[in-house]
Amino acid sequence: MNKYGYITLKDYERALLSCVVCHCGLCAANCPAYISLRDEAVSPRGLAHIAFNALKGKIDPSEIPDKVIYACTGCGWCEWDCSQNRLLPENLRRRSLLISGATITEILRSMKVEKGEVPEQVAEALNNLVKYGNPFGKPAKIKDDWVASLGVQTNHADVILYVGSLVPYDELATKMAEALVNLLKRAGLKFSMLGSIERDSGAFARAMGEEGLFMELVDSNTETFKKYGVKRIICLSPHDYDVFLRYYDDIKKDIEIKHYTQVLWELMENNKIKLKRSYQKKVTYHDPCYLGRRNNIFDEPRNILKKIPGLDLVEMKLTREEAFCCGGGGTSLFYRVPEIDIDLRRAEQAKETGAEVIAVACPICLRMLNDAVKSKSYEMEVTDIAQIVNEVI
Ligand code: SF4
Ligand code: SF4
Repeated sequence: MNKYGYITLKDYERALLSCVVCHCGLCAANCPAYISLRDEAVSPRGLAHIAFNALKGKIDPSEIPDKVIYACTGCGWCEWDCSQNRLLPENLRRRSLLISGATITEILRSMKVEKGEVPEQVAEALNNLVKYGNPFGKPAKIKDDWVASLGVQTNHADVILYVGSLVPYDELATKMAEALVNLLKRAGLKFSMLGSIERDSGAFARAMGEEGLFMELVDSNTETFKKYGVKRIICLSPHDYDVFLRYYDDIKKDIEIKHYTQVLWELMENNKIKLKRSYQKKVTYHDPCYLGRRNNIFDEPRNILKKIPGLDLVEMKLTREEAFCCGGGGTSLFYRVPEIDIDLRRAEQAKETGAEVIAVACPICLRMLNDAVKSKSYEMEVTDIAQIVNEVI
């Protein structure tokens, strides 16, 4: 494995083989791609068989359908639940050894990029990332103007709020970020935002299989964080948080990386944020996979919600480690496999609780579940925890 965490099918042979001989299929029980498409080929077990046969030359990787390569959201369920992974002692559970559909599809997607065989939408998002620094192809100046409009300093970089590539281009993510900025200011926290100087964390490039671009983004952001003397990064998105923690090896010992819910809870616990109003609504919290199962942050978001006067928190059946994905990981924001309906299924699960509001802690979950609730014509609101807190201060 190189320092960016990349491996080849050959490096992964042992893990693939242990799945091929096991064949238990436990992992499929909650794999959102499999549950949505009911196709063994997109399940973790199916992916392992396909990848193993590709490695042995029995399948031409170019002939693996896009559906198989792009359905995985990287939700981490299979890695967590796989019977073979659980047999490994704790000290051997390195990411290269664990059986994971996300790792398999990451390798297969990289092979597609190398061969120039990616779906058109993926190619466009990648080109935009290279040209504009964001996958939507929007000029960087928009981000600088937005930061300037918030009156946040850009020159004192001990603590930075890293908003990522969706902001300010996605309307919902932007509202979420603005709510958080307001809360951090009200708490008296001294922080900066780097505007267009912060480049995409690499989360999208990695999900789309662009290894070269991913490595370049890691190096470029690492250099920026060092140059600005950053000591603490507060991430808006769990996807960026996950990438910083997993792959930014050169900054991890000097820079504290936090998801915003951790910081918000810390501020609330220390009475830096006073709640003056109540929120008389029934709320269910959707655990973002990249925050919960992949990084074990389950309690802080719930602690925040439980502290809000009047808020009635109800849990979905699949929650915490077992939470079902919203469908937003992987390439879904740019290239969605036909007929996949993970987001609609999660919205149904939320609806079953009788909640009026789905609270999230991720700009991608916010977008996915908002769209899902609209498609289903549910009278439910989808909002971020930061926005709820911002309403009651
Ligand atoms: S990471 Fe999630 S979506 Fe991908 S194969 Fe595993 S369980 Fe399925
Ligand atoms: S649980 Fe693990 S070993 Fe069993 S089929 Fe799924 S990925 Fe393979």
